[in-house]
Amino acid sequence: MHVNTQEYIDKLINDLKAKDSHEIEFIQAVEEFLPTIIPFLEDNPTFIEKNILSLILEPERVIQFRVPWQADNGDWHVNRGYRVQFNSAIGPYKGGLRFHPSVNLSILKFLGFEQIFKNSLTNQPIGGGKGGSDFDPKGRSDSEIMRFCQSFMTELQKHIGPDLDVPAGDIGVGAREIGFLYGQYKRLRQSDMGILTGKPVGFNGSLIRTEATGYGLVYLVHHLLKDKGDSLKDKTVKLSGSGNVAIYTIEKIQELGGKVLTASDSSGFIYDSEGIDLKLLKEIKEVRRGRLTEYIEQRPNASYQTGSVWDFSVQADIALPCATQNEINAVQAEILVKDGIRIVAEGANMPSTNQALEVYQAGNICYLPAKAANAGGVAVSALEMSQNSQRLSWTRHAVDENLNLIMKDIYETISETAKRYATAGDYAAGANIAGFAKVAEAMYAQGLV
Ligand code: GLU
Repeated sequence: MHVNTQEYIDKLINDLKAKDSHEIEFIQAVEEFLPTIIPFLEDNPTFIEKNILSLILEPERVIQFRVPWQADNGDWHVNRGYRVQFNSAIGPYKGGLRFHPSVNLSILKFLGFEQIFKNSLTNQPIGGGKGGSDFDPKGRSDSEIMRFCQSFMTELQKHIGPDLDVPAGDIGVGAREIGFLYGQYKRLRQSDMGILTGKPVGFNGSLIRTEATGYGLVYLVHHLLKDKGDSLKDKTVKLSGSGNVAIYTIEKIQELGGKVLTASDSSGFIYDSEGIDLKLLKEIKEVRRGRLTEYIEQRPNASYQTGSVWDFSVQADIALPCATQNEINAVQAEILVKDGIRIVAEGANMPSTNQALEVYQAGNICYLPAKAANAGGVAVSALEMSQNSQRLSWTRHAVDENLNLIMKDIYETISETAKRYATAGDYAAGANIAGFAKVAEAMYAQGLV
């Protein structure tokens, strides 16, 4: 069968748009992905002949369930819970749970789809999945969060297992939530430490898991700069977010001699020309679960501004979006180009719109996509799974060294793959092709059913 690859890709996208027109974020992720893998498909026509792409766009299984829970004031609420088991070709489904009011099937399918290739790039034996709920944790007490997590896990436990599907955290799901989810699983199914990752270190979690996404992001940028004979020393950074990924990105940037000028939450952002005071930021976000406005009360030289940090001009060398999907549009990307930003590396999942990506390319910004750049988190989750199976706890140093090696390996893989199939420096194509090749080969080898 001879098929024009571009026509084949266009048809897949059009079919998807016709069938699931409301899944805007999922369509966006697919539209970014498919065109970049054309050169690989042309080299490997079997994958077109066997229609592996249609298969890979369809989750193996989607589970949706209701989550009833009671608020402290006695009111009863019902939220939607989901688990998208997207692809298990190279290992058990692996990916986080997101609790945020914006969660719907489109968001979880885009996240699950990206997770397949991200997990493949880590070279760990993990498939791709994602789950969560449209539950809004903001302003909820510890007991409300606990009751919600218990109700969510009461249903989810029927569908997961250490060799089947291993969830973890994402936006709105941190150590506290993982603790409650784990406790409920144990209550219902007996102890099984390998059922979730991102567990607190005191009960079978891995050292460095909390830091892993942020550290990994910085390691990847470090390896890119090293390859160009440069380093992070004295580099300035425009960063968004103030959650787990942002905090440990700031920590590692500072350790390697760089300076982070901004951080943000859903209401606004702080600008600190002397560099973010990490101790203060951690105290506000991790201890008090407070808002960023509290930062300027103690740092009079810093400023706070409502709105998106990406709407404002900040002269810096590197931009690290660490908040959420679609936080940078084309107009905001133009501001990055004008401000002289040289590198955009994504700590969040799909923080740049596809139009923003075009602006990066036209403006010669070096772009490290989320699939590669934030893979450190899930990579250390895979190391946590290994430790749980071994019933051993590795040292901080051992996990950190492994993480750094995995990120170095990812940099080399995406860089070599870009040179071979696309153009040198097209790390988006490099990540998509390298991530896809391994999964597609595994699917083909296992027989198409
Ligand atoms: N939610 C994280 C991600 O986007 C981590 C997933 C995991 O550790 O399983 O990759």
